[in-house]
Amino acid sequence: MTKQNIDWGNLGFNYIRTDKSYVSDYRNGSWDEGHLTPEHTITMSECACVLQYSQSVFEGLKAYTTEDGRIVTFRPDLNASRMASSAAWLEMPAFPEDRFIDAVLRVVRANESWVPPYGSGATMYLRPFEFGINSVIGVKPADDYQFRILTTPVGPYFKGGAKPVTLKIADFDRAAPRGTGHIKAGLNYAMSLHAIQQAHREGFNENLYPDSATRTKVEETGGANIIFIRDNKFITVASPSILPSITRRSLEYIAEHYLGMEVEEREIPLEELSEFEEAGLCGTAAVISPVGKIVDHGREICFPSGMEKMGPKTQKLYDTLTGIQMGRIEAPEGWIYEV
Ligand SMILES: *Cc1c(COP(=O)(O)O)cnc(C)c1O
Repeated sequence: MTKQNIDWGNLGFNYIRTDKSYVSDYRNGSWDEGHLTPEHTITMSECACVLQYSQSVFEGLKAYTTEDGRIVTFRPDLNASRMASSAAWLEMPAFPEDRFIDAVLRVVRANESWVPPYGSGATMYLRPFEFGINSVIGVKPADDYQFRILTTPVGPYFKGGAKPVTLKIADFDRAAPRGTGHIKAGLNYAMSLHAIQQAHREGFNENLYPDSATRTKVEETGGANIIFIRDNKFITVASPSILPSITRRSLEYIAEHYLGMEVEEREIPLEELSEFEEAGLCGTAAVISPVGKIVDHGREICFPSGMEKMGPKTQKLYDTLTGIQMGRIEAPEGWIYEV
């Protein structure tokens, strides 16, 4: 397979059109057989439900070239099931989970020349998404839907390596206790845009949202779960209004079974932040980005791991997870799907 003529080592995190996308339409109560398409533009009614009322859900996962030259994806079954629960929450028909996995493998295969080579630091990002496509003016769910998977090669999410980031405790709310925080809906990102731009204007990398009901407990950032290290413990947030990150759930397993750490998933009061040794943000795009500092309205919490590099335990977690994804470390049963 000849690869595209791309400077893989200098790719940013931007959309680049590849050869094929996968598309399936839902009409008259059922999904069609689906196909690969060279068409990367969507034509729809100006009154489509997604445009008027934001009825859309999405996923994100990656395809990797392993050390021995295979192309693999990481736990796509979890993306399939999470997308099904996101869809149900917005009254959308779920794309069948077995077909989701099949479509992921097919669309990667069709774009093999765009999958970055091993060792380049780049990967192929896959964005499955579903949206209401027919015209809707009175507020109600659409009748017709489209499911697509687009692929795009991406460089590391944070250019210049994993430099620790600074977070601010957000002045805004991300998710209501009984709202949509636990699903991957486009609307959760729309409402985060003002908050993140505001944080950037103030010199912060991201917002760390407290829980909306009491504003006393840690939730997550706009697009990543937060993880903490203290002693030999790996501590993550338990909350019904955070997005169940596949990266975070994988790291919990790695911490316990590969690194012999104790894993705690529980409520984390903001007051406890100053007691942690290391902190990181985790998600598919960046894997783990270390957090050096959190600023809570003037009160600075600086982690002992500092502002220069990842903390040592965070680094071990990062190396183990990426080692599994790149085929350097043996994966737990069922985590790797070969394309
Ligand atoms: C997608 C997402 C994450 C990360 O989930 P992964 O499955 O690890 O990629 C975390 N938080 C939010 C709000 C997200 O949308």
